[in-house]
Amino acid sequence: MALADRLQFLSPSLSSIHFRKPNSINIHPLCSLHYDSFFTSYSSPFTEKHSIQRYQRDQWLYKNQLEQITSCSFPPDSHLNRENNIALQLPELKKLLQVLREKRESEGCSKGKYGPGNVFLVGTGPGDPELLTLKAVRVIQSADLLLYDRLVSNDVLDLIGPDARLLYVGKTAGYHSRTQEEIHELLLSFAEAGATVVRLKGGDPLVFGRGGEEMEFLQQQGIQVKVIPGITAASGIAAELGIPLTQRGVANSVKFLTGHARKGGTDPLFVAENAADPDSTLVVYMGLSTFPSLSLKLLHHGLPPYTPAVAVERGTTPQQRMVFAELKDLAQQITSAQLISPTLIIIGKVVALSPLWSISLKETSSLVEAK
Ligand code: SAH
Repeated sequence: MALADRLQFLSPSLSSIHFRKPNSINIHPLCSLHYDSFFTSYSSPFTEKHSIQRYQRDQWLYKNQLEQITSCSFPPDSHLNRENNIALQLPELKKLLQVLREKRESEGCSKGKYGPGNVFLVGTGPGDPELLTLKAVRVIQSADLLLYDRLVSNDVLDLIGPDARLLYVGKTAGYHSRTQEEIHELLLSFAEAGATVVRLKGGDPLVFGRGGEEMEFLQQQGIQVKVIPGITAASGIAAELGIPLTQRGVANSVKFLTGHARKGGTDPLFVAENAADPDSTLVVYMGLSTFPSLSLKLLHHGLPPYTPAVAVERGTTPQQRMVFAELKDLAQQITSAQLISPTLIIIGKVVALSPLWSISLKETSSLVEAK
């Protein structure tokens, strides 16, 4: 039975929530464990490693690779070195560059005279394709080449035009993982060839997305980049759960933190001291592995142990799972529920305003009573 049919079978009203699991199923870790095997048998909504769809989509890159490597010869022209480097890794990209140039020239632009193509930095939201902006959809459909990473959902990739090429540049790829420098070079080469290049990023490209670095690099090379904002995970997930990120008299500010330590950089968790404000909402991105330490620091700096909190895995997708708990218990609950990346953590009194918070409390107390 197809996933959608199986979910319909579980709850006839599911179609209105895009086949996300019914709330009563996934709010408590003990309950969600029951459904784990059911859901993990379905492929992830994201373009993670082992994603069969990703391999199939990027097939054009690999199918002629061996043949091309043996037959390609490159002129020793120094200004072509950059693109030849790329081409040596991925000969199909070289071919595509050539096709794009010829197309440009046949359209009446004489060599060297035409301007660069358009580069768009596009936010794709947290996963649900219906959270894309109209602008994003329009640009995605007009792209020649789209570079995407892990948190761009497969549903979003389904929107591309028939002749567009997709290139996975995710950092956690099991194969052909690209460095940030390589991504810069790819964007530049294709833009110089006059292509419409779209760099897709999950959520908003300028929120923990390294979009700023890519924009800066291209601008330094004289290429203009247009940014199309996306719904950041905090907004998409808060809306999904019915949590107002700010609320008069409850939370007068909201802070977005990263739980991720930059390689060789200072521990980002030093922010805990400033973040431990009971009148503010904290949203932690990339915080799964460092959360046990962050929560202890927040408690140490005075955030009340009973502060409501929630961790949401793969929010806004059909595979969404979440655990609600007081701050003091959340790290333990995340471990019991075995949440995996991407997971977003929201901490603050506003979490208790979600209708799901009281349901989760009732379920927890009935489980305790039943013991
Ligand atoms: N630019 C993105 C954030 C990239 S950082 C944005 O604006 O949303 C990656 C982190 O974002 C993940 O580790 C996770 O904490 C969070 N995230 C992104 N999408 C998510 C999703 N669908 N569900 C849960 N967390 C998500």
